[in-house]
Amino acid sequence: MNAEIVSIGTELLLGEIVDTNSAHIARQLRTIGLDLHYMTTVGDNLERIAQVLNIALDRVDVVITTGGLGPTVDDVTREAVARATGRPLVFSQELLKQIETFFVRVGRRMSENNRRQAYIPQGAIPIPNPVGSAPAFIVETDRGVVITLPGVPREMRYLLETAVLPYLRDRFRLNAVIKTRLLRTVAAGESTIDAAIADLMELANPTVGLAAHPGQTDIRITAKAESEEAAERLIAPVEEEIRRRLGDIIYGVDEERVEDVVARALTERGWRVVLAWEGPDCEVFRRLREAGADVQVADVPPPTPIRTEDEAVQWAQHLRELTGAEAAAVIAAVSDTSGEYTLIAAAAPTGTRHARVQYHAFAEYRKQWVANVVLDLLRRLALEAQAQRA
Ligand code: ATP
Ligand code: MG
Repeated sequence: MNAEIVSIGTELLLGEIVDTNSAHIARQLRTIGLDLHYMTTVGDNLERIAQVLNIALDRVDVVITTGGLGPTVDDVTREAVARATGRPLVFSQELLKQIETFFVRVGRRMSENNRRQAYIPQGAIPIPNPVGSAPAFIVETDRGVVITLPGVPREMRYLLETAVLPYLRDRFRLNAVIKTRLLRTVAAGESTIDAAIADLMELANPTVGLAAHPGQTDIRITAKAESEEAAERLIAPVEEEIRRRLGDIIYGVDEERVEDVVARALTERGWRVVLAWEGPDCEVFRRLREAGADVQVADVPPPTPIRTEDEAVQWAQHLRELTGAEAAAVIAAVSDTSGEYTLIAAAAPTGTRHARVQYHAFAEYRKQWVANVVLDLLRRLALEAQAQRA
């Protein structure tokens, strides 16, 4: 299956506007695996548009036009498609109703010219246009299919995504598979990851990209192929390379949540966790408990306020002894001359770990960020237990 895009408009030939519509359509066709063979631009001239359409129908399966669907006399795409496909233009009462409805909805007066837009080639499949006045349409012929879209980029995009791509997928059984693997990390800066795998982000298939959330960065590997297995084969070596470079920064894949991974690791080792924090609520407590970890709250305050990472670590160690829990984590909010930040420490049979999180602009982000850092420290302590056993 292959396609040609025909962009229509004298403005394009005069260089007054840039043909962004063709570029957009081209990118979208890639996602459904329809190969684009040609892009042609032609002015608002009936003869020449019809001629271009004839040439296109001779050499590709699907022709997609954009522009020249408006109500004015210089918008001749309708007539040109009718001529090239050998179908007369016929009036559609149904389309006229849709056009009238559109004008009522946007509170504009419909002109007599707009009636022109209710004509489409005989036998064409109309594509209702709720975002503009010009209905689009599809003409299926023995020589190929012509899909006619408006020129206004917003309308064109909307109709392409909601009507044309689904039509093409169904009609031509385009079953290119797009498969994505997410490699998930917490508590590692986006820029660190970016620097480590920047060269891989230049790949074409699969593509590699980053998605950052508070305290969490996902690496997305997306492949397109003719089957699930073929897509998997494209992803595998890239995933392996990313894992080789980032090591245990990656805690899981796809929909896996870090609290589930940590709760599982704690349970496997028979570790109970005690948490101590300052402040009104503790996101990590909620998330760990919900994920099924054996987690409790320390109901004793530290002997003196925690101001350094060492003090946080000592308090975490001490909480283990006090409560008998195998693991402990301490979260302390600190405000001093260097600003506001959070000290985090975790202790387990394998040792201790600590981190310092500078405050971020949004309180909501900060909570998630801190929780992710706590989870990551516990995860790493649990991983060390595994390494020591091995
Ligand atoms: P209308 O009902 O507004 O007349 P139409 O289908 O006739 O829609 P055109 O008149 O060809 O579309 O174009 C309308 C506007 O859309 C143009 O002035 C231009 O700003 C934009 N446009 C048209 N074609 C393209 C294109 N290929 N790339 C980017 N913008 C375009
Ligand atoms: Mg126009």
